[in-house]
Amino acid sequence: MERRYNFNAGPSALPQDVLSHAQSELLNYQQQGMSIMEFSHRSKEYQRIHDGANELLRELLEIPDDYEVLFLQGGASLQFSMIPMNFLHQGYMANYLLTGSWSQKALTEAKKIGEAYIGGSSKEADFKRIPDLNALKYGENDAYVHLTSNNTIHGTQWKSFPQRKESTFIADMSSDILSRSLPIDQFGLIYAGAQKNLGPAGVTVVILKKDLLSEIPDNLPTMLDYRTHVDKKSLYNTPPSFAIYMLSLVLEWTKKKGGLKEIEKMNAEKTKLLYTTIDGSKGFYSGTAEADSRSSMNVTFTLPSKELEDLFLKEAEEEGFVGLKGHRSVGGCRASIYNAVPLNSVQALSDFMHTFHHKHNI
Ligand code: PMP
Repeated sequence: MERRYNFNAGPSALPQDVLSHAQSELLNYQQQGMSIMEFSHRSKEYQRIHDGANELLRELLEIPDDYEVLFLQGGASLQFSMIPMNFLHQGYMANYLLTGSWSQKALTEAKKIGEAYIGGSSKEADFKRIPDLNALKYGENDAYVHLTSNNTIHGTQWKSFPQRKESTFIADMSSDILSRSLPIDQFGLIYAGAQKNLGPAGVTVVILKKDLLSEIPDNLPTMLDYRTHVDKKSLYNTPPSFAIYMLSLVLEWTKKKGGLKEIEKMNAEKTKLLYTTIDGSKGFYSGTAEADSRSSMNVTFTLPSKELEDLFLKEAEEEGFVGLKGHRSVGGCRASIYNAVPLNSVQALSDFMHTFHHKHNI
């Protein structure tokens, strides 16, 4: 069977080598006579995978020793609530940098727990860009400053991050973690749902600076208290063992590709190819995001009319491309080109875009 050109925004393409590897040991994991899904999460076989994924993530992202790495459930969306529950205390305000729908959702949840305000926003520009670092506002009683590193829906991305020694920065990196080198020590907490660059849906990675643990109040429900998961090394309750196994395979694949430096170069090549196609079309395709805020993960663009967009999506589907429809809240088109999307898929999309343009030139 031919695999399709997968540009889904998440869940999204996984490396074919990883899928084949998982398939090869699906029924009989390492001659143990059963699937990894059927092992106890207290078994030594599972423990090896669990610890291995944790160590490899630390190695690839160069996570310093004073950070914990957790594997949680509930998606990035549960982190929208857990963060204020753990760190937004009375007398303090949470500072949210508003760059799109996901940061808006995070803010909405924070307001249910305590006080929060917007220290920077690109709402007035329809979220087509990232706010200017120098224009961000901070308060004296900031509990933390929250940002979304890559805006999956709008196709924008922070190219560099705000830095300020008085502030604890927290970042939702769901849609660009593992795509580039990261200054981990500029953040108190980083979180990401796995279903883009890390693996299948079902596990959420949290990278948390240890000294923040002392700020957590004692009255939280056990499962919503980060200390529970730190103390039990993400094995307080049954973890999503298959998702973590898949994560471990994706991390091994990432390492084999040469780690983040090489991945970043591969991503840059794919991004350049698509944006060059868009910019070279003399306005037939228009990039949605402003040039200096363009995402290397989600390339958003429009065509001259809704009719042409519908036709583009229909013909693309017929040619084996999936996932090119923009998010329902913004419309247009979006090609998500996460780590596992190979250059040849992006080349095929670029060729298709050229052909479509010539066929329907107006
Ligand atoms: N944040 C970002 C940046 C996302 O792209 C998404 C999902 N696409 C979420 C949060 C929500 O993640 P989840 O569905 O895992 O809760």
